[in-house]
Amino acid sequence: MIKKDKDGKIDIIGMNLEEMVTTFVGLGLKKFNATQVFDWIHNKMVFNFDEFSNISKKDREFLKEHFYIAQLTFKTHQISDDKDTEKFLFELSDNRLIESVLISHKNRHTLCVSSQIGCLIGCDFCATATMTYERNLSASEILLQFYYVQKYLSERGERLGNVVYMGMGEPFLNYDSVIESINILNSPKGQNFSKRNFTVSTSGIVTGIEKFTENESQVNLAISLHSVRDDRRTEIMPINKRWGVQELKKALINYQKKTKNRITFEYILIDDFNCEYSDAFELADYLRSFSCLVNLIPYNPVKGKIYKTPSKSKQREFYKLLKDKNINVTLRETKGQDIAAACGQLKAKKEMENGTEN
Ligand code: SF4
Repeated sequence: MIKKDKDGKIDIIGMNLEEMVTTFVGLGLKKFNATQVFDWIHNKMVFNFDEFSNISKKDREFLKEHFYIAQLTFKTHQISDDKDTEKFLFELSDNRLIESVLISHKNRHTLCVSSQIGCLIGCDFCATATMTYERNLSASEILLQFYYVQKYLSERGERLGNVVYMGMGEPFLNYDSVIESINILNSPKGQNFSKRNFTVSTSGIVTGIEKFTENESQVNLAISLHSVRDDRRTEIMPINKRWGVQELKKALINYQKKTKNRITFEYILIDDFNCEYSDAFELADYLRSFSCLVNLIPYNPVKGKIYKTPSKSKQREFYKLLKDKNINVTLRETKGQDIAAACGQLKAKKEMENGTEN
């Protein structure tokens, strides 16, 4: 995706190979220069023109005149007590902050990336929603989250296995940059990261689901559901006023018919709200039409929110009720709560640099 800064310089990380070739040739450079630069950035993960050693000094200077390299500066890194969750705080070139979370299980590593600074959706249980919404991230800012963590893992001989768009922001409100980042990571000349290993999670933007259905049959889709009753869902997810649960269901049935992909449903268990017997039966009924996996996520407390986590026995009971209805379901262990990296807890703040997050 061609993006320029205020000086007219092009964001070189955010271009796919085709765009790079066309732009380079248009500027009088050689086609193979584009392949070389793409390899430095997206395969070798080098983000400094001066280090592109197979490009002549003259051409490197020319590149600097016409292109810029987006910045993502590492600020802090926190590791949960169980060592399975790591949270990274990054600063962007405009001093805004974002977070990414690395979740590891044995040698399997999943990166949860942010797609926006803040979020306009306003889910009531979510810490990100309490931040001021600032802007969408560019494709390059999404890619740099991946590259930073991939390099971090490579130092111990490991690699990312999956990427989930479940960090700060609603990915379908930044559709083009999200898809461009996936396409670039999928490029055989770059990371060659299989599309099957990406999951985009939405709060239920039906227009985004429709576009995704038409164009992205290989990328996985996850839905933050949390209730199948319109009144309840609207209470915690205002987006439900725009697209209610039946309209969402219709779009998802169409998605599955076209792509044959299994859908993941995220369901946060909130005490005295959405995890009674009747909720399990209604949920099972709603899901009957789908080939799906339901992730039950015990609510992760967010300061200032009234919601409570159900007891372990209540969580297990809800899980069992769904299991008995032949629903493919998992009950997640709560991970990363101690570093506020669990689902719904991301809230990049300046104060975190001083260890005074609230
Ligand atoms: S849960 Fe996701 S969509 Fe909802 S406010 Fe938080 S970041 Fe936005």
